[in-house]
Amino acid sequence: MSQQPKIALITGGSRGLGKNMALKLAAKGRDVIFTYHSKQNAAQTTVEEINALGRKAVALQLDIRQSNRFAEFAQTVREILQHQWNATGFDYLINNAGSGIVKTFEQTTEEDFNRMVDEHIKAPYFLTQALLPLLKDEGRVLNISSGLTRMVFPGYSAYAIMKTAVEAFTLYLAKELGPRRIRVNTLAPGAIETDFGGGAVRDNQDLNQRIAAITALGRVGVPDDIGGAVAAIFADDAGWINAQRIEVSGGQGL
Ligand code: NDP
Repeated sequence: MSQQPKIALITGGSRGLGKNMALKLAAKGRDVIFTYHSKQNAAQTTVEEINALGRKAVALQLDIRQSNRFAEFAQTVREILQHQWNATGFDYLINNAGSGIVKTFEQTTEEDFNRMVDEHIKAPYFLTQALLPLLKDEGRVLNISSGLTRMVFPGYSAYAIMKTAVEAFTLYLAKELGPRRIRVNTLAPGAIETDFGGGAVRDNQDLNQRIAAITALGRVGVPDDIGGAVAAIFADDAGWINAQRIEVSGGQGL
């Protein structure tokens, strides 16, 4: 009898870093459930690319700002696991989806702030809580933070403090889920060329070069840099990595 493949659940797999993580995990033989917000066509393309690697993938719509829908989402995941995999649980959870804002402290409104709280604190916290009964013992959680919790640039205060909360969340989750041998880590990407922030790191050549100039490896990151690191962290023999903040930035801000 063939062994059940490990299943990853990734929020925000339709584009950018989440999509690359999904493809890199699929290339390592993992199946993937991922969410998208509004870009259904992009999500479908991700499904097809994962299928082309010989792995199974399911895309589900979810607005991570609607925490009142997380219980219903968990029920949908439960049914999909049953029908698609004949399984009662999944192995890896990656809290990745989200957007940013670039506004100075003085410009940031309460509405901006609350949006960041909903996306970057409430969503990982309560989505993980809703999905916990489906996450297998020995499973793993990876919370996506940012290099901006270590490197300080004007305009990112609201975003960066949310990501700092994500890093504290990782520590508490690792402690509380330790008895189930669930590993919980933070991955903090440096600036990466995606649609994030209106695609500024990718499309604004001046910004791109300024970040490259303060990066030990002399360039900004690309999604492959992150997906590859995620696949390495989730390797079967990397399970002693726990409760860590792993920055994947090529040495930015040095
Ligand atoms: P992208 O903008 O490229 O992709 C964002 C993804 O999140 C998409 O799949 C999008 O879905 C989904 N998403 C956005 N808002 C919501 C929402 N309200 N509900 C559900 N899904 C949503 O961003 P990145 O891939 O670059 O960023 C991914 C993560 O990495 C974020 O947490 C970000 O903070 C973090 N990060 C990014 C860095 C970078 O430089 N790119 C650096 C450090 C951290 P859809 O396609 O349907 O819109």
